[in-house]
Amino acid sequence: MPGIAKVAVNDATIHFDKLYSYLVPSELKGSVWPGGMVLVPFGAGNRPRMAVVLEVSDEETPDARLKSLLDAAPEEARLTPDLMELVRFLRDRYFCTWYEAVKAVIPYGAQYQPGVENGRPVVKNRMMRPVETVYTLTGELPQTPKPGPRQKQAVEVLRSGPRSRSELEQIGISRATLDGLCKKGIISAGERDRPLDLLSNVPFDPQPLTLSPEQSEACRSLEEDLLADGPRAALLYGVTGSGKTAVFLNLIEKTLAQGRRALVLVPEIGLTPQMIRRLKAMFGSRLAVQHSALSNTERLLQWRMIQQGNADIVVGTRSAIFAPLQNIGLIILDEEQEHTYQSESAPRYSAHDVARKRAAMENSLLLFASATPRTETYQAAVSGRIRLVTLKHRYGGRPLPTVDFVDMRAELAAGNPREVSYQMAEALRETKERGEQSILLLNRRGYRTVGMCGSCGQVLKCPNCSVPLVYHKPEQALFCHHCGHRISPVPTVCPECGGKMVYSGFGTQKVEEELAELLPDARILRMDQDSTGRKNAHEQMLARFAAQEYDILLGTQMVAKGLDFEKVTLVGVLGIDSMLFGQGFRSFENVFSLVTQVVGRGGRSELPGRALIQTAVPEHPVLQLAAAQDYPRFYEQEIAFRRFSLYPPYCSFCVVGFSGTQEMDVYTAARRFARLLAERFASHPEQPLRMLGPTPMSIAKLNGKYRYKLTLKCRNDAPFRALMRSTLDAYAEEKLPAKAGVTIDFNSDGD
Ligand code: ADP
Ligand code: ZN
Repeated sequence: MPGIAKVAVNDATIHFDKLYSYLVPSELKGSVWPGGMVLVPFGAGNRPRMAVVLEVSDEETPDARLKSLLDAAPEEARLTPDLMELVRFLRDRYFCTWYEAVKAVIPYGAQYQPGVENGRPVVKNRMMRPVETVYTLTGELPQTPKPGPRQKQAVEVLRSGPRSRSELEQIGISRATLDGLCKKGIISAGERDRPLDLLSNVPFDPQPLTLSPEQSEACRSLEEDLLADGPRAALLYGVTGSGKTAVFLNLIEKTLAQGRRALVLVPEIGLTPQMIRRLKAMFGSRLAVQHSALSNTERLLQWRMIQQGNADIVVGTRSAIFAPLQNIGLIILDEEQEHTYQSESAPRYSAHDVARKRAAMENSLLLFASATPRTETYQAAVSGRIRLVTLKHRYGGRPLPTVDFVDMRAELAAGNPREVSYQMAEALRETKERGEQSILLLNRRGYRTVGMCGSCGQVLKCPNCSVPLVYHKPEQALFCHHCGHRISPVPTVCPECGGKMVYSGFGTQKVEEELAELLPDARILRMDQDSTGRKNAHEQMLARFAAQEYDILLGTQMVAKGLDFEKVTLVGVLGIDSMLFGQGFRSFENVFSLVTQVVGRGGRSELPGRALIQTAVPEHPVLQLAAAQDYPRFYEQEIAFRRFSLYPPYCSFCVVGFSGTQEMDVYTAARRFARLLAERFASHPEQPLRMLGPTPMSIAKLNGKYRYKLTLKCRNDAPFRALMRSTLDAYAEEKLPAKAGVTIDFNSDGD
């Protein structure tokens, strides 16, 4: 009997993601399964496309018009029933396409793509052999022309044997130098298998953990959940420095002792080395890592290690939630309030929800941890839906840092043209003189953040995006922080009227310069997206700061979270005010969290900590509460606001986005969609819905596309999703001048 495969194809849209049937040709019989990757001829031109198989059946007399599958990937690429369940979950919950969900759950390196072999379309593995370039000395430097210092250095280093490119780059020898030497025949380049070195230098050195009474109590009650039958969730709310990690280590130990496995999520790549180090020291090498700073090869190798059952603990960022780990007893989301746990591209999932789903599938304990939990999470905890475990005190009885404000209105009146206040400079100086360290937070990168014409007031914006261009001094260029558009040299006169351009606003580069003027002998380390671009830069910078090679760590939010340095006694916060007046309903929560977190970086060891916050609104209640590090009181205010203004957890908040190149068409599409949605809800009055819009998004144009949104306050349950789906289907049928792309996002805070 002929076999029929029902498949979902790559590159579909959410309003057009049907299942297509194909004949399984006899040569592929026995190699096509649900969860398998196949190649299909698609559309009028029969162009080969990747697809995932959802069903396979046998039919007596299949439709004679059916096309045949072209090829199928081997069984090792098959998604397990567990992963397929996650794929279904993603598609159902987040309105992504089938194939987008597939691409989210398996790493790039494990995916297949269309290729050609002997003139026939076939599936091809994306992964290449994990190799690296190595250089070997094959000749000597000539005396003329006079060799450069880098060339000499390279030759000297290679005398002791071949070295890899990354090793050479780390000591400052550029690829250009190496290429030059290769051309002259002085060294030669070859390839070798790349060793996978994930902190192999961290010794296995398990130290018995002595828990504080508060920590033991927390572990004891969480252990009940860990041993319980069935999925459980809990929140570990612990002030900064209370030692939440010690609780994790203890629980992981108990999980492993039960013969089960643990999945640990951290919010950003920068925090993985610290976590890996602690876990590796305690549990040894059956530890795998999944995060985006790994190369595709490294990531795949680690993924296979997990898949083959050779890892007991997996650490990683958001997407690690899809790690093919089995028998999971414990899932931890550290710093659970971080927005990085929400994906901003399709599938727009939240690691919280996927973790809940996985915990349900595996009967695990799901542990959220934070000093400043999300309002929704804390509400679930205080209302008893999940267990609340609290650490009220810092480990070792250390006090929380004292917090003072610098009133920037007074600074301005005193005529300080700098962003760094006199008081801040003084505090930094004193800290340095005591041989201690400081962390300075400024959540804006670049040098000057806005360029405006002094005569006509025109702001220099990106031609593709409706945002101001940011002046970066090292490159002497203006950059768009969204699409990367670059303008160089930096205009000195207005392109519109010829008036003089004035650059204002402070970024980390400018503050770095001010600090160098104010504190000429301070050693300053700037950490932001621009300075951490190189691989491992993060880790190396933090290691050097920990080794006290610097006095001041200046950076964007990447310096605010989770870091633990003994000698840091001063924390300074700059430029926080603009965040207080953000549009999204989470802006207060975000400011409270950022300030509390960064303040909490200080005084974590023997030395007491102090924080200084620069602001023009020192009386602002959110800043006052953050200074007091009083989360419970902040929560009381925030939950009252959420209830009164109807925001999560009292409703689901959903932003339906529309984008396209013609603004009028996008707007028309959004209007039409709104009507289709309203019609459907009109016949279901039991289904709550408030709809706002269409209105332009706060970034109204991005990458050359205009963007509109509908904002929905709703109840995200199965009937709601059914109505949404029916709206999408109706939208796909609509006759419109041009169909705008639609996205549905439950993570947006409306900004
Ligand atoms: P946070 O709750 O902010 O995540 P950490 O887990 O980083 O706190 O702990 C804060 C500091 O206290 C760290 O330097 C950590 O090593 C130390 N610490 C916490 N608990 C213990 C413990 N039980 N034994 C030894 N040191 C601990
Ligand atoms: Zn742009």
